Amino acid sequence: MAASPPYPRFNPVFAGMGTTIFTVMSALAVEHGAVNLGQGFPDEDGPRSIRDAAAKALVEGPNQYPPTRGRIELRRAIAAHAKRFYDLSFNPDTEVLITSGGTEALTASIMGLVGPGDEIVLIEPAYDSYGPMAAASGAIVKTVKLSPPDWRLTEQALAAAFTPKTRVLMLNTPLNPIGRVFDREELEAIAKVLRGSQAVAICDEVYEHLVFDGRPHVPLMTLPGMAERVVRVGSAGKMFSLTGWKIGWVTGAAPLVDVIAKAHQFITFTTSPALQLGIAHALEHEMDFTLGLTEELQAKRDLLKQGLTKLGFTALACEGTYFMTADIRGLTNEPDRVFCERLVREAGVALIPLSVFFEDGKPDHLVRFAFCKKQSVIEDALARLERFFIKRQDAS
Ligand code: PMP
Ligand code: GLN
Repeated sequence: MAASPPYPRFNPVFAGMGTTIFTVMSALAVEHGAVNLGQGFPDEDGPRSIRDAAAKALVEGPNQYPPTRGRIELRRAIAAHAKRFYDLSFNPDTEVLITSGGTEALTASIMGLVGPGDEIVLIEPAYDSYGPMAAASGAIVKTVKLSPPDWRLTEQALAAAFTPKTRVLMLNTPLNPIGRVFDREELEAIAKVLRGSQAVAICDEVYEHLVFDGRPHVPLMTLPGMAERVVRVGSAGKMFSLTGWKIGWVTGAAPLVDVIAKAHQFITFTTSPALQLGIAHALEHEMDFTLGLTEELQAKRDLLKQGLTKLGFTALACEGTYFMTADIRGLTNEPDRVFCERLVREAGVALIPLSVFFEDGKPDHLVRFAFCKKQSVIEDALARLERFFIKRQDAS
């Protein structure tokens, strides 16, 4: 190998970056034979009929490039879903774009809507892909930090992050990693700040159906004046427990979807036709699965909370998503990441430290548990934690 490699500089956004925490913790879980309550994926696949519909399309075709905006069957099904659940009307030809997962929908939206020198506001804790993709687009990231245990967003805090250069607000509700669902008062505050600005919102609503305790999911787009200022991002992976399929979408006003489609055409151009047809089938025939999943996950959340409380964790409220967070200060003085790395090795349970979702790595006394797992898996994790925390104490 040459003494000095012929590549003096890579893109600094990615060159200095580590591997995502989800990959790191899943790899540690495999290495140590741990129960994985880290990365958020269900361990039971969604309905057979969806997989059959995709398999049929895979065998019988079409297997060549679909249109760049996606198969019309799926765009129509997404528009019908938005009408049914939120009374939102989208023209499938101009206001719906199919992407390779929610991740690509977010990337294409960010790349389409912000450029060098523009400001983008993130609400922290923020899903881990937002910051790097915003920086890679040349945008300047401003953050609004929420505080535990209530994690409430105020108009004052949001307004303070906005300037005349703000072009985009990223809003994730229900919010991964903390399971918050912004209430109407918070949404109205957001709408007010947006109306007084030149910004639009990218609303990451991939957990739209995972809202618990009978609360509604209210898309920001349904508030007055927001139809022209919001794009919504959805993901079939979460709705139908098929996270590996990577079928996502963007819905919104035509001028916004147009520019996002321009970015999409050079990121992936399009996405697998068989999987698109499988998800079109799912939206038409398997929504009962999704609605049932909400109930099932709520029961698992309760089981996990009860178990964690007995062990000395302080579980925080969880209003939606796959995730619950808990305060670890009753059990350790270690920072969350050190605690998680020890737990996966010594207790055989993988979790996610919450500090990774904050630019400054604070707070670092909270951990995230994914409860989108079989009940027996959650019980196994609790039993391992019990052996680790309680039996060990008894022995000493
Ligand atoms: N946004 C949030 C908040 C998520 O948690 C995830 C996924 N895990 C995504 C977007 C990405 O969705 P997808 O898996 O469809 O790319
Ligand atoms: N969204 C998933 C989580 O929060 C992870 C997705 C990924 O690994 N990129 O656990």
